[in-house]
Amino acid sequence: MAGMHAMVLDRPRTALTMRERALPVAGAGELLIAVSACGVCRTDLHVVDGELEHPKLPIVPGHEVVGRVLRIGAGVGGFTLGERVGVPWVGATCGVCPYCRADAENLCDTPIFTGYTRDGGYATHMTADARFCFPLGESGDDAEIAPWLCAGLIGWRSYRMAGEGKTLGLYGFGAAAHILAQVAAWQGRRIFAFTRKGDTSAQDFARSLGATWAGASEELPPELLDAAIIFAPVGALVPAALKAVKKGGRVVCGGIHMSDIPSFPYSLLWEERHVMSVANLTRVDAREFLAVAPQAGVKCEVTRYPLARANEALADLREGRLTGAAVLIP
Ligand SMILES: [Zn+2]
Ligand SMILES: [Zn+2]
Repeated sequence: MAGMHAMVLDRPRTALTMRERALPVAGAGELLIAVSACGVCRTDLHVVDGELEHPKLPIVPGHEVVGRVLRIGAGVGGFTLGERVGVPWVGATCGVCPYCRADAENLCDTPIFTGYTRDGGYATHMTADARFCFPLGESGDDAEIAPWLCAGLIGWRSYRMAGEGKTLGLYGFGAAAHILAQVAAWQGRRIFAFTRKGDTSAQDFARSLGATWAGASEELPPELLDAAIIFAPVGALVPAALKAVKKGGRVVCGGIHMSDIPSFPYSLLWEERHVMSVANLTRVDAREFLAVAPQAGVKCEVTRYPLARANEALADLREGRLTGAAVLIP
């Protein structure tokens, strides 16, 4: 029987281990995909570090998957063998709950998440619900496109929630921010990048991607901003960002997990400032971003790791040692 390899998490707060498994079968409605690249997202860290509860265990993490269709399950239309596809964080939604019916499938009551409640892309092969697989065309490098599947898509949803303002702060200049900075520059918006204090390489990186200003998260920008998106999982950034936005400004929390938000004076929220979170993504977000990113000429800065070195990639992300995005290559 043909086999596959996967990096498997048996229990939170332990290292992933390489396992050999039988090649999965593409069930009805599914694709079997030969993975060519899988990005490493901060959400994977939250799964591995036990900050997201009740993962399927053992679990193969990974939800920024680029691969090629190897088998097509019964009842699936619209895909061809060998076609390049992407698999995102949302692996399936129910289609019948009040949220799914209201075009808010990102809030589905019984969702399935790739690399969290079903096996993901830290592997040579995986199956996925074809309804949540997206054709990627042939232009662009697999590894450089992989971060689009989460950092790009959820970044895009956060960006849309931030509104139409011309000045946008980005707190945490990692994978998502470096993609959005390029989209924002292409749209003629001005980006203000906030990083850890003293992280001059991240600040230089932000300026190289067109950021108008870059500085430490504790600093105030040179002018008040229309909106800010927080990608770093640090609750203290919420009051910091509220100080940096104008009256009526929006602060969007783009991550799935954050440390507690410290109490802050009501005056920071007063004057119709908003604080909101972004959860997951819809297929509409995915189609929009996958159309916009090539037009905007989005280029991801990636560090490639062989699949077997997934633990090292996770550690580098945890310790903030990366510029751009980590991508595993099976
Ligand atoms: Zn639903
Ligand atoms: Zn993610």
